[in-house]
Amino acid sequence: AKAEGRGRHRVFEPAMNTRMQARLALEAELRRALEEGEFHLLFQPLLSLPDRQVVGFEALLRWRHPRHGLMAPDSFIPLAEETGLIVPIGHWVLREACREMRRWPGHCRVAVNLSPVQLADGPALLRSVEDALAASGEPAGRLELEITESAMLRGTEEVLDTLRRLKERGVRLAMDDFGTGYSSLGYLRTFPFDKVKIDRSFVRDLPHDGESRAIVHAVIGLCGTLGLTVTAEGVETEEQLAQLQRENCSEVQGYLFGAPQPAEEALRLVRGAAAR
Ligand code: C2E
Ligand code: CA
Ligand code: CA
Ligand code: CA
Repeated sequence: AKAEGRGRHRVFEPAMNTRMQARLALEAELRRALEEGEFHLLFQPLLSLPDRQVVGFEALLRWRHPRHGLMAPDSFIPLAEETGLIVPIGHWVLREACREMRRWPGHCRVAVNLSPVQLADGPALLRSVEDALAASGEPAGRLELEITESAMLRGTEEVLDTLRRLKERGVRLAMDDFGTGYSSLGYLRTFPFDKVKIDRSFVRDLPHDGESRAIVHAVIGLCGTLGLTVTAEGVETEEQLAQLQRENCSEVQGYLFGAPQPAEEALRLVRGAAAR
């Protein structure tokens, strides 16, 4: 098998090497990016219904790569997770998001995405959150952590313990991309979440697609019963909004209300609203 493998190996070597080299280069660049200040955050508004007031912002990570330009998180977070670099990067995100929040009115929260890799080391995550809150001087209740269902699959007991500690500390917990993972309903009962974010794949085909309508209806109903806030993600049209409002959805987020935007624009948005 080895001899055969060697023969075949040679054929694929150039392509493999190019891919591996690109990966290694990206990894080295990721390491440097943090020191060189190549990361920044964009902030997308979260609005309450039915009044459409901005109640907070979700922080979304961007990398201004010196040669590749602006890179979306999907293009580098998987590698950052594999290499463990997501831990220091995630810590930077937490600090930066909590720092930015200081400039907003007191009722505005900041939502930060957590990687399953961060959640896997509970003590380190708790220290990271503590440090970010201490540095900002803001109350824990203004910080919301967004966690996907897939993150819950690893080491359930430890994860549950970590989430309980965060909750005791006063941090708000949101289950992200709801409906895209497994056993979601069980998680909602077991884990101490305050909020569920309905994945935008269910919002996209509202109000015409019957299945999407039924799922959104069921999730909002269930969350009402469990006392959880519901945010619908990816709201792009007035029609989608009207349907969500009919269902008594509590919060919305999407291009209809505002794209992820630089900190200065987010600040103008909340200051403008306060002045009105
Ligand atoms: P997510 O947490 O589900 O974030 C929402 C994504 O939907 C964002 O993509 C946002 O730009 C996009 N979006 C918002 N409104 C709309 C809309 O109306 N229509 C459509 N089609 N899209 C909309 P983005 O910024 O590219 O982020 C992608 C994912 O990367 C995020 O998905 C999140 O899972 C991850 N991510 C972003 N920032 C961080 C971070 O700081 N740490 C970690 N661990 N993950 C992050
Ligand atoms: Ca999110
Ligand atoms: Ca999401
Ligand atoms: Ca997503």
